[in-house]
Amino acid sequence: MLGTEVRDIFHAACADHWLIPAFNIAYLPMVEPICQTLREFDCFALIEVARPDIERFGAQSLEAVAAEYARCADERYVALHVDHVPVIDEEGQRVQWREMVREGIECGYHSVMIDGCRLPLDENIAVTQQVVEMAGAYQVPVEAELGAVLGHEPGPLPPYEELFDSKRGFTSPQQAQRFVTETGVDWLSVAAGNIHGAISGVAADQPKVQARLDIDHLRLLAQATGVPLVLHGGSGIPSEYLHEAVEQGIVKLNIGTEIRQAYQQALSATDDITVAQQAVAEVIAMLITERLGTAGTASLLR
Ligand SMILES: [Zn+2]
Repeated sequence: MLGTEVRDIFHAACADHWLIPAFNIAYLPMVEPICQTLREFDCFALIEVARPDIERFGAQSLEAVAAEYARCADERYVALHVDHVPVIDEEGQRVQWREMVREGIECGYHSVMIDGCRLPLDENIAVTQQVVEMAGAYQVPVEAELGAVLGHEPGPLPPYEELFDSKRGFTSPQQAQRFVTETGVDWLSVAAGNIHGAISGVAADQPKVQARLDIDHLRLLAQATGVPLVLHGGSGIPSEYLHEAVEQGIVKLNIGTEIRQAYQQALSATDDITVAQQAVAEVIAMLITERLGTAGTASLLR
């Protein structure tokens, strides 16, 4: 599969309003049951890996996930994406983002995400422009983020309803329009009520808050940008919001917490990786057939 093919798939999904789930690999053995379940339900999705998956959990490295993908994946159903290459990480530290983007491209990832959302707008634009240029030389599509999808920071968040009502962190449609025009980014990750699951301390093992989505705000963002939009923090968003979001231009939905916790809980209960893989397969099957409704999307591409 080529990056250009993934870009075309996103445009097809955007035009016809169907969703591409993106499943985070927190542990290498998760790749196999995800690939099998996608084939079983004829669903197209991405497998993705972010820095916390590598550094806090058991994804090991971009290269290790790419090797496991090469072993298990049928490319009619799944492509490989580098999630969240941060310029500044959740602890406030600068990251060698150029090196990580390059590593992903060299390992054969089909698309990459640069995350400059902790930077001032002008710097986020400048960094994203550089990544669009780097990746463009390999025809690799780029996702960027604007606004603040909260939840990864250490320490407690304010109550969810307070965040939602104040629209704190929501992506501004005016800024989004400028951002997309000036960067030429392929897909934009936006904030409109979605939040990340916790990745540090005891909260990483707790059930995630049930988020809502501001559908009117998503509509404004889609109109302002004209590119496929991405929602991070997909675990636990009820399906009625998701279906409306897809109608408004959300094309990619990231899901991490829910499948990671299924794997961890099954593994700690049984100490058996096969059982943990089975638990992941069951959650993926439930997501595809019930919450996301994405069974059969791969056949739309043939
Ligand atoms: Zn994210």
